[in-house]
Amino acid sequence: MDIRVGNGFDIHRFSDDETRPLVLGGVTVPGAAGLDGHSDADVVTHAVAEALLGAAGLGDLGSHFPDTDERWRGAVSTQLLAHVVGLVRADGWTVGNVDCSVVAERPKLAPHRDQMQENLTGVVGAPVTVKGRRAEQIGGLGRAEGIACLASAVLVRSVDGSSPVGGAEEQ
Ligand code: MG
Repeated sequence: MDIRVGNGFDIHRFSDDETRPLVLGGVTVPGAAGLDGHSDADVVTHAVAEALLGAAGLGDLGSHFPDTDERWRGAVSTQLLAHVVGLVRADGWTVGNVDCSVVAERPKLAPHRDQMQENLTGVVGAPVTVKGRRAEQIGGLGRAEGIACLASAVLVRSVDGSSPVGGAEEQ
């Protein structure tokens, strides 16, 4: 059996545009300052996608969805993630799990964590966990200039290309 691990990192600064919503893990956080970005700037979803692409050896998010491409302006990142999951599956991989650490001084993530996990787990089709960390006032993240996210993903694939996890549909 092939087992691969991938890591993903993303960071976006807060936007000066007060009308931009903050989207994290597919959750629009009410009343919070939004992040700058070509898409919806969902830094958590981007890190998950980067980790999956990295584990599968399929490049990075920017190579699949260049920010010079007007098609992706304002894109809903969970839809980009769904596309990435499709690419990973097409290569015979099954996602084991993904774990995320979000580094944010604000807003408080705890009230939104369950919904983020539910959204991302639904898109990925495997457990996605989200943990929040503060940056202890160190550096730009600590001064609340933006939000970053790190993610780790595990993929499994049997050597003959069949799914080693075996969903109910295969029994
Ligand atoms: Mg990003």
